[in-house]
Amino acid sequence: MPPERAPDVEANDRALRSTGRSSLRRKRERGSFDRTTAEEILDEGIVCHVGFSDGGNTFVVPMAYARIDDTLYLHGASANRTLRAVAAGAQICATVTLLDALVLARSAFHHSVNYRSVTLFGTGRRVTDPAEGLAASVALLEHIAPGRSRDARLPTPAELVATLIVAVRIDEGSVKIRTGDPIDDAEDLDLGIWAGIIPLETVAGRGQPAADLDGSVTLPPYAERPQRRR
Ligand SMILES: Cc1cc2nc3c(=O)[nH]c(=O)nc-3n(C[C@H](O)[C@H](O)[C@H](O)COP(=O)(O)OP(=O)(O)OC[C@H]3O[C@@H](n4cnc5c(N)ncnc54)[C@H](O)[C@@H]3O)c2cc1C
Repeated sequence: MPPERAPDVEANDRALRSTGRSSLRRKRERGSFDRTTAEEILDEGIVCHVGFSDGGNTFVVPMAYARIDDTLYLHGASANRTLRAVAAGAQICATVTLLDALVLARSAFHHSVNYRSVTLFGTGRRVTDPAEGLAASVALLEHIAPGRSRDARLPTPAELVATLIVAVRIDEGSVKIRTGDPIDDAEDLDLGIWAGIIPLETVAGRGQPAADLDGSVTLPPYAERPQRRR
């Protein structure tokens, strides 16, 4: 029997598409197909794990990425196996995870993590239009450090040719989020064991100049001081 779709999800223009493989099953109440939430998670994340099959093997490869509207862009060397497989039409599953807290319950069984994650399914296409390639390169820079594309030397046509950029439409997928306290069994609440959450943050440190940097080049604002990424 095909898996049923979570009943509380209304399909609308702002919903991610859902099929059997992206239907929420366990802990459905933590999931959604809300595209805006998915975009917020994608924009806050840094690393995307790209899963695909190639030659009878399954791979999951961490990669940087950027989003422009409804498209996720990945890039790397033109010999990159992951990107070549995506460009050749492989079905991929791309997941971005934000870790928000460790959740310590009284019982071992109920320990957990607070997280926000998005899982996308689909196929990609090779970006061949130089204008789109340049826009993707700018987005990749901006995703890492907002403002960086104004400073960095942008890719030359030759460098764009040596770079494999793939575009994946943000279409089918799901969001899952856990927040809040541990959920202990009632009979464990009086055990006198500490329970709660340990918040986790991704924090950028102050930029450290490259050893070969000319000392007259000052630290740009986006590398100036520790700041939370979100
Ligand atoms: C945070 C992060 C961001 C990255 N961003 C990018 C990016 O934007 N673009 C890009 O091209 N690459 C990126 N990389 C490197 C990427 O993970 C791959 O190593 C690289 O893209 C080569 O991919 P491939 O498919 O050609 O691997 P292959 O060279 O074909 O991989 C061969 C084997 O090497 C091993 N391997 C490959 N990559 C890794 C890895 N990361 N960790 C452990 N083992 C590995 C695996 O066993 C794999 O089967 C990133 C890595 C990290 C950790």
